Amino acid sequence: MTPFELEDRYSARNYEPLPVMLTRGSRAYLFDVDGRRYIDMMSAYSAASHGHGHPRILGALEAQARRLAVPSRAYYNDLLGPFLAQLCRRVGLDAALPMNTGTEAVETAIKAARRWGYRVKGIPRDQAEIVVADGNFHGRTTTIVGFSSEPEYKDGFGPFAPGFRSVPFGDLLAMERAITPKTAAILIEPIQGEGGIIIPPAGYLAGLRKLCDAHDVLLILDEVQSGLGRTGDWFAFQHDRIMPDGIILGKALGGGVLPVSAFVARAEVMDVFTPGSHGSTFGGNPLAAAVGLEALKVIEDEGLVERSRVLGAHMLERLRAIRSPVLKAVRGRGLWAGAEIDPDYASARDICHRLLARGVLSKDTHGTVVRLAPPLVIARADLNIALDLFEETLDEVARRVAKEGATTRQPAVA
Ligand SMILES: *Cc1c(COP(=O)(O)O)cnc(C)c1O
Repeated sequence: MTPFELEDRYSARNYEPLPVMLTRGSRAYLFDVDGRRYIDMMSAYSAASHGHGHPRILGALEAQARRLAVPSRAYYNDLLGPFLAQLCRRVGLDAALPMNTGTEAVETAIKAARRWGYRVKGIPRDQAEIVVADGNFHGRTTTIVGFSSEPEYKDGFGPFAPGFRSVPFGDLLAMERAITPKTAAILIEPIQGEGGIIIPPAGYLAGLRKLCDAHDVLLILDEVQSGLGRTGDWFAFQHDRIMPDGIILGKALGGGVLPVSAFVARAEVMDVFTPGSHGSTFGGNPLAAAVGLEALKVIEDEGLVERSRVLGAHMLERLRAIRSPVLKAVRGRGLWAGAEIDPDYASARDICHRLLARGVLSKDTHGTVVRLAPPLVIARADLNIALDLFEETLDEVARRVAKEGATTRQPAVA
């Protein structure tokens, strides 16, 4: 059997991959088994923000793997302290709890918020509530999918954990109404990534900060995808000049090679954890710490935040200049854009298929949105090539529909 057949035969069907068999990566390039080169405009949902195979990260990974990889948190290790110190300094908060995947760090934040609610705020036992936003994506555990608004993520997986309320994203009034004396925290993405790169109205985060201060509620931001340079700031919250009480990081924290995540918070929040109250066999291992530390240093040394800001502005300007009936809207910040495709012309997945044929890898989200989020190290020339090819793809689709009519509905073309 070919690797395609093997994957189809032996892998659970929880993904529906585009038909390309990747075998190698370098910076913003991915290569298939036939040696064909693609521009990566997806960067593994920000996990590959540093680009594929970054030499400094590979160097840290290899050296640390030879020295010591996984001794467990039953002992101190000489890299965890330096890594978390650097992480806390960078975020501007007091202490961190290291985990592996994003979803585990979200679970960690939920535990912290609830315990803080009982022990600090004084919410009656087992009654704490956390308010989230419609359209959220925080991971895939049963607790987390329980408060997702995506039926596909939840169908058949209940019963779900109570203690969550969901309100429309970007709506401060709805948020205020949802807060009660039992509310421990607001848990929210500053920009909804899987939701379709949805940017809330200006002042939303600042408004949430005020609500949290007024009602003694924690503001916890899930920056697993938006953090570490993606939006042109180190963290998306900086755009609104606020400080959260806690932040969840992951994806790019692993430098494109390992799952490394963390919950970072104010001391008052993190202090609710006592020995034995939470843990992870792999979380905080020296291999992950070495990679995380190097991942942070590379962002700093290579000016990747500034790069994201400058190239991101260029990307958005180019996308917004496109005049195509296929493209309904463009949203984005930094090297992170969502292109809303008119479903009368094509599905976002169809656009991704066509981009693939042209040598550009992207990923649809929510049926109608094409995500454009290259590694932050992408060369300006490659970004321009990818954007040229995106424009060509839209033209191709518009021409096809003009000639043959839409496959589904008749398009509203002049
Ligand atoms: C990807 C993502 C997660 C989950 O991270 P995993 O590493 O896949 O568990 C959580 N929150 C946000 C905002 C994400 O984008």
